[in-house]
Amino acid sequence: MGLKGSKLYSIFAMKCPKCHKGQLFKSKAAYSRNMGAMHKTCEHCGERFEPEPGFYFGAAYVSYALTVALWVAWYVAIITFESLGMYTFSFQEDAVTFIVGGIILLIVLLPLIYRFSRSIWINMFVSYSEEAHGRGA
Ligand SMILES: [Zn+2]
Repeated sequence: MGLKGSKLYSIFAMKCPKCHKGQLFKSKAAYSRNMGAMHKTCEHCGERFEPEPGFYFGAAYVSYALTVALWVAWYVAIITFESLGMYTFSFQEDAVTFIVGGIILLIVLLPLIYRFSRSIWINMFVSYSEEAHGRGA
């Protein structure tokens, strides 16, 4: 079966959770001026991407979870690289470098975190429909 038709596909491809064909965001590139702009409805099946006002307020919780996961991944990465002796200074001994590096990483990844949190959030409420997938052109 693979990723097609699964929630993971919708989340990572930033596709409509219902038909997996329409795009959630107007711009494909996360690093563009309109990175946050979403379609109101799905271009393919007509699914509403904002079922109620303030729907994405809850996406902040997802964003928070992703941020925590990112810090954990960042920490695991540096202790791994350090154990491999890949650099001479120590992030573990230098908390400031660890925190500054983590914040820079966070800022760089912010557009992706923003999009993923919305993509994950809508996927928690809308399920894939074979019928919607086949609808339209
Ligand atoms: Zn759709």
